[in-house]
Amino acid sequence: MPQSKHTIRLAADLQSDSIVDGPGLRTVIWTQGCSHHCRGCQNPQTWDFEGGGEVPIDMVLEAIDELEYQDGITFSGGDPMFQPEACTEIAKYCKEKGYNIWVYTGYTYEELIKMSKEKPIYKKFLSYIDVLVDGKFVLKKKDLNTLFRGSTNQRLIDMPKTLSSDEIVLFDESEYLQEDKFKREKTYV
Ligand code: SF4
Repeated sequence: MPQSKHTIRLAADLQSDSIVDGPGLRTVIWTQGCSHHCRGCQNPQTWDFEGGGEVPIDMVLEAIDELEYQDGITFSGGDPMFQPEACTEIAKYCKEKGYNIWVYTGYTYEELIKMSKEKPIYKKFLSYIDVLVDGKFVLKKKDLNTLFRGSTNQRLIDMPKTLSSDEIVLFDESEYLQEDKFKREKTYV
């Protein structure tokens, strides 16, 4: 039974069965609050740090316990990096349950590493992430053909490989597209 004393501010309820926020069937955690204010952002209602609703982390963990047939968890928003402590706690729980974790952020990986020098929690959060989709959405670089991101400046960073090699390693899109690694074998109804 999850037991956390902390809260997280969310923009919406957890959304299951997404197929556009990373590979496979995923549950999205929509965090509230973002100061990047990218032009053309699809979710400007998530910018307000007082918007959405504050919920106990336990409630989120209980919802995760009840998930079925999900391949992974995606943190989006808003920008999850504005609530690193809460997101780290949830990511750790998801990881322990075997979920693949993707995180969307308006910060670049390099900025996050710099920020982690003063706030190590960022590095801890990064350590639970499988793929970090980094950087602001840039309207001029919008491209509907890019995999799982909105503009070509954004990168799909393979976090385990990046953290272990100390240089940025990108998620292997070709391997994913060819092998469809996350394709489920059964069909659920
Ligand atoms: S980082 Fe994401 S949520 Fe924040 S303004 Fe940019 S696109 Fe919108």
